Amino acid sequence: ARQTVEENLEVAEQTIQQASKLAALGEMSAAVSHELNQPLAAMRTYLAGAKTLLKSRRFEEAQGSFDRIDDMIARMGSITNQLKTHARKGSETLKTVDVLESLENAIEIMGPSFAEANLDIIRVFPRQKVWSRLDSSRFEQVLINLFRNAIDATKNIETPQIEVIVAQSDEIKVSIKDNGPGLSNLEEIFTPFFTTKEAGEGVGLGLSISSEIVAEFDGRLTAYNNKSGGAVFEITLPRVSVEPGET
Ligand code: ADP
Repeated sequence: ARQTVEENLEVAEQTIQQASKLAALGEMSAAVSHELNQPLAAMRTYLAGAKTLLKSRRFEEAQGSFDRIDDMIARMGSITNQLKTHARKGSETLKTVDVLESLENAIEIMGPSFAEANLDIIRVFPRQKVWSRLDSSRFEQVLINLFRNAIDATKNIETPQIEVIVAQSDEIKVSIKDNGPGLSNLEEIFTPFFTTKEAGEGVGLGLSISSEIVAEFDGRLTAYNNKSGGAVFEITLPRVSVEPGET
C-alpha cells in the first residue's frame, strides 16, 4: 500500500511540475506576443505614413518615420535575443558542478564591465567546494544578468560595490548584494517586461527568465532590500553531496 501511495505521489508531483511549467510558458508567450505586436502595429502605421510622404516628396519627414521603424526593429531584436538564449534547455544538461566555479566564470566574463564601472567585487566564499546539480552555462547567464543589473543600479554611486556571499547548510544560498538605491517595486520585478530602464537599456525579461532558469534546477530566486540599503538577490539551490572523484 505504501508503495502505491508513493508512486501516486510521484505522479502527482510530476503533474504539478508540468502544469506550473506550462502556466509559466503561457504567461510568457502572452507577454511576448503582446510586446511584439505593439511595435509591429506601429511599424505598419509608420510605413504607410512614410509611403505617403515619399509620394509627396516630403523626404525629411519620411526619414523620421524610417528612424522610428529602426528603433522598433532594435527593440524587437533585443527581445528575441533574450528569448533565444532562453530557448536552449533541457534537464538532460544538468550536471553536478561547483557553484563557486560558475561564480568565478561569471565574474571573469563581467571583469571588463566591472572595471569600466570602477566597481569592487567582494567574495565571501566557503573553503570547501559547493556542489549542486545545474546547467552551468544557464546558471552563469543568471549570474551575469544579476551582475549587469547591479552595475546599472550603482551607476550613480561613488564607490559601487557588489558583495557575493555563498553559504551552505541543507541548501546552498548565493546572495548578491549591491550598494545601489535598492528595489522600489519588489512585487513587480519578476514580471515579464517590467522595467524601470530607458528604452534601449532594458526590456524587462532578465529577472523573469532568470527565475525560471533557477526553478529548472529546483532552486528559487528571491529579492529583498538590505537593511543598510541596496538590493539583495538570493539564489537558493539544492545541495548535492558527492564523493571526490565522482565528478
Ligand atoms: P531589465 O534589466 O531589462 O529592466 P530585469 O527583469 O533584469 O529587466 O529587471 C527588472 C527591473 O528590476 C529593473 O528595470 C529594475 O527596476 C529592477 N532591478 C533589478 N535589479 C536591480 C538592482 N540590483 N537594484 C535596483 N533595481 C533593480
